[in-house]
Amino acid sequence: TETLETRDPEIFGAIRKELGRQRDEIELIASENIVSAAVMEAQGSVMTNKYAEGYPGRRYYGGCQYVDIAEDLAIDRAKALFGVGFANVQPNSGSQANQGVFTALLQPGDTILGMSLDAGGHLTHGAKPNQSGKWFNAIQYGVRQQDLQIDYDQIAELTAQHQPKMLIAGGSAIPRIIDFAKMREIADSVGAYLLVDMAHFAGLVASGHYPSPFPHAHVATTTTHKTLRGPRGGMILTDDEGIAKKVNSAIFPGIQGGPLMHVIAAKAVAFGEALRPEFKDYQAQVIRNAQALADQLMKGGLDIVTGGTDTHLMLVDLRPKGVKGNATEKALGRAHITCNKNGIPFDTEKPTITSGIRLGSPAGTTRGFGEPEFRQIGDWITEVVDGLAANGEDGNGAVEAKVRAEVEALCQRFPIYPRL
Ligand code: PLP
Repeated sequence: TETLETRDPEIFGAIRKELGRQRDEIELIASENIVSAAVMEAQGSVMTNKYAEGYPGRRYYGGCQYVDIAEDLAIDRAKALFGVGFANVQPNSGSQANQGVFTALLQPGDTILGMSLDAGGHLTHGAKPNQSGKWFNAIQYGVRQQDLQIDYDQIAELTAQHQPKMLIAGGSAIPRIIDFAKMREIADSVGAYLLVDMAHFAGLVASGHYPSPFPHAHVATTTTHKTLRGPRGGMILTDDEGIAKKVNSAIFPGIQGGPLMHVIAAKAVAFGEALRPEFKDYQAQVIRNAQALADQLMKGGLDIVTGGTDTHLMLVDLRPKGVKGNATEKALGRAHITCNKNGIPFDTEKPTITSGIRLGSPAGTTRGFGEPEFRQIGDWITEVVDGLAANGEDGNGAVEAKVRAEVEALCQRFPIYPRL
């Protein structure tokens, strides 16, 4: 009968405070979302107790008959959602999904070609401090100076020059749609694999608001917790049976042990939610909201990298206001608007400072915000940024306090987790 509150008041208190933060503050981190109570219930379930090394029907432990139901459902729903023949739902994270693909298809020392972190790629696509940059000969592509869009000519040149064994498409700060057919054509020119890491936009793919990586990708990876709105985790998809076999062995026993069955159950719930018609409406609104926010910020005198967005995210170029990403992140935090500083392409500031912030609409859209609310948020951001521009790093305390009160009032109109 002991509750978390009585057994561990410190952790209980931290969780209550985190719930309060999520309830009362506006979440604009593009990689975050707000899962349903059903997803959380599955994730907080007894399946956390179960060892289930192996795959459904072929486990190395007894007593797996019920966790098998969960994993089979997760797999079937993932395949239906993305229209592919194979899914591995066991990766514990997006990073481990990518590691799993590398383990399946590459040898240490092989050449890979991915997007650089500064241009919008992810650490696991060959960045120096990441295993992918240490264990492989990682070559990096970027964006064009003139329009800040992916430089396919450069990718083709680097591919011809370095003959990579794998090309990686996707990233963490790419606001526009990637041309998967072109990437595949370039990969085919040297017989390379094409890996599409759709972590950010998987939800948009599932709902038909972003082109599918398939049939172009040999294999695709994703996180399950961003636009897809599931529990934290990863997944690997392919239509190629040979790759599928290698991926299964790479995840277990290659790089992971017992899968997180409670998380897999929660993935199944989230995929079930994503298969419902409402999910299409949700993702359509995610894009409309991101576009409304971008438009409002431009009206307020800020620049948006590539002049807008086709997706759930945007990169705000703060240079027209003469303020930095780190100071802006902090000032918006004081106003209870959460985002992250982010380098913009060709940024001359250090990654700890940056000239930009990255914003996304998935979490706000989940709590019910529409375009009017996102336009209002755009105005608040501009006010706070103008306060920084006028007063330096400390910002304008009065403006920040006023915005904080208005943010709280808005959040109260769109409550989350009423039963917690
Ligand atoms: N791939 C991309 C494109 C991402 O944006 C991220 C996370 O930000 C990942 C992979 C890694 O996911 P995780 O944080 O679950 O390891």
